[in-house]
Amino acid sequence: MYDITVVGAGPVGLYATYYAGLRECRTKLIETYPQVGGRLISMYPEKTIFDVAGHRSILAAELVRMLEEQAMQYRPTVVLNERVTGLRILGERVIELATPAGNHYTQTAVIAAGCGAFVPRKLDVPGLIDFEGNGIHYYLGSFEPLRGKKVLIVGGGNSAVDWALSLDGIASEVTLCHRTYRWQAHEAMVHRLLSSSVRVKFPYFSLKEVLGEDHVTGAVIWNERSGLEERIDVDAIVLSIGMLTNMEPFRQWGLNIVGNGIAVAPDMSTNLPGVYAAGDIVTYPGKILLITAGSGEAATAVNAAKEYIESGDLGR
Ligand SMILES: Cc1cc2nc3c(=O)[nH]c(=O)nc-3n(C[C@H](O)[C@H](O)[C@H](O)COP(=O)(O)OP(=O)(O)OC[C@H]3O[C@@H](n4cnc5c(N)ncnc54)[C@H](O)[C@@H]3O)c2cc1C
Repeated sequence: MYDITVVGAGPVGLYATYYAGLRECRTKLIETYPQVGGRLISMYPEKTIFDVAGHRSILAAELVRMLEEQAMQYRPTVVLNERVTGLRILGERVIELATPAGNHYTQTAVIAAGCGAFVPRKLDVPGLIDFEGNGIHYYLGSFEPLRGKKVLIVGGGNSAVDWALSLDGIASEVTLCHRTYRWQAHEAMVHRLLSSSVRVKFPYFSLKEVLGEDHVTGAVIWNERSGLEERIDVDAIVLSIGMLTNMEPFRQWGLNIVGNGIAVAPDMSTNLPGVYAAGDIVTYPGKILLITAGSGEAATAVNAAKEYIESGDLGR
């Protein structure tokens, strides 16, 4: 029986694990994949992060290395390669977490499962699906394959702007098209983009068609207001327009799902006793999907879990 079991070893789960150790909790961390780091490792290990407290800039993979080192200080039990598929409240301060390999028992759980099961949001444009794996990307595990190539980025959020800036100087030519009149990215990064050599097609520019035979060789972008079309030569297209998440498994555990997240109170408690959540998986008014926000939520969740455990000890 553990005090706190953290589900998901992304940046938020790693920080929750560290914090649970700091509060001298018997801690277990369970992660689906063979490695820790969440999306920082699976989607953008080589990207520079500029908005984590205390770091002017840091590579995603390096941040994960540091978070892991911090988390392991108190020797938590780490279970990799196991997806938590079920959660049951067996009694007061007894929670069962099921995985295909067996059951785990814990007094409290902190769910830090990111956006759960997700697929990249796609566009219904001719050629897109056909060229997946042949020039269509939804994220970039490595920038090197795009060295010297012409790249089109589609999107206007933080990820799209970051990809464009990361590739500027690596790719031979970067174009970014964004279809609304407002950026969804941090202002300073947008200004950096606008003064970089990235060719910015904004506002109202969207992808209309992907061209090529075996591999992407071009794209048609168009201005959705004026109807003006432009054909550009590109070797790769990075579609960065968000994720579609599937919260159904968490709903089946009995958790209260609102929109795309687990609803939490200000202390990060969910509707289930002893079950807390933190990071991209949670929702509340004002929630932002950033590592820094998730780290704060992880500390709040662990503190609340500890208090809940101790309230049981007092009652015995
Ligand atoms: C391209 C891109 C660039 C970004 N850039 C930045 C940036 O510069 N700065 C910033 O602050 N944020 C950035 N973000 C957002 C940031 O990545 C997220 O806010 C952060 O990853 C959330 O951390 P998390 O631990 O909540 O989730 P995740 O990183 O998604 O980690 C969740 C982990 O839980 C595991 N998991 C899920 N379900 C289960 C289960 N049932 N059982 C066991 N394990 C499970 C997953 O395998 C995963 O490892 C970016 C996001 C993207 C996509």
